Amino acid sequence: MRHIFRFLFVLAVVAGSGVHAKQLSFSFDDGLNPDTNPDAIAINNALLAQLRQSNLQAIIYPSLIKLGGSAGLQLVAQWGMQGHAIGNHSERHLSLNKADMSAADYIDGIAGAERQLQNLVGWTARYRFPFLKEGDTRQKRDAVRDWLNDRGYRSGAVSIDASDWFYNIRYLAYEKAGDTSSLVRLKKAYIRHLLDRAHHYDELGKKTLGYSPKHVILLHTNKINAQSLADIISAFKGHGWEWIDTEIAYADPLYKQQPDVIPAGESIIWSIAKKKGNTTLRYPAEDAPYELENLKRFGLK
Ligand SMILES: [Zn+2]
Repeated sequence: MRHIFRFLFVLAVVAGSGVHAKQLSFSFDDGLNPDTNPDAIAINNALLAQLRQSNLQAIIYPSLIKLGGSAGLQLVAQWGMQGHAIGNHSERHLSLNKADMSAADYIDGIAGAERQLQNLVGWTARYRFPFLKEGDTRQKRDAVRDWLNDRGYRSGAVSIDASDWFYNIRYLAYEKAGDTSSLVRLKKAYIRHLLDRAHHYDELGKKTLGYSPKHVILLHTNKINAQSLADIISAFKGHGWEWIDTEIAYADPLYKQQPDVIPAGESIIWSIAKKKGNTTLRYPAEDAPYELENLKRFGLK
């Protein structure tokens, strides 16, 4: 009898550990312009090297205006050559939620980017909405959604949204000022922010979906990530997260959902929670002012 209990206990522990594995994957928005950013090539190389060292496949979502010209496009091409997916982040990086942005003009911008990107190795028909804004009216939202669906696009959604761009602005300023002590603290504050957002969206996911989904986190091809990616990877591992390839994450049924909310967009988990009547959600879901408290915690302002 005692053996049976022990056997059942072991089974429960094994099953339990599987159930609680939190998984996430990388997506990187925008791309880099070597004509205007002297660090563009170094940043691109550093991001790719750290992904390679961790044997992770990611997706990059380039926006043509962020690449400048062919030199920026060549940096994107390297992602595909190294086994990563290349999605679409539009031609001019505009918000669909702006009142004066028509669905027709917006769709032209998606098609224009596709023409430049579709011949690259790794091209994948996934679309990432700039600013995660998917439409301020049902008419615009559905016109763009229908166009993407008809053209065979799959989801380019994120489940974990964060404000890496905000920390990057501070990073560049401290670097320019030669303030190494602030740089060290900022990096710690940044990683804490990412862990905090991942935890938040995972908890919201469990409450909203009834399970912990395979996550896609939104980062940008910027300097703070080039300087931190290996540390980000190991910090998440230390907090019980497992890194997975982006294409595996996107197989989660979560990314098939297209919730009916206006304004549309933000994290897919945020959006589904909104649809289900969650009244605790802030809007926008992520923004710079929310981060001031975290900076203070690390002696920064
Ligand atoms: Zn972007």
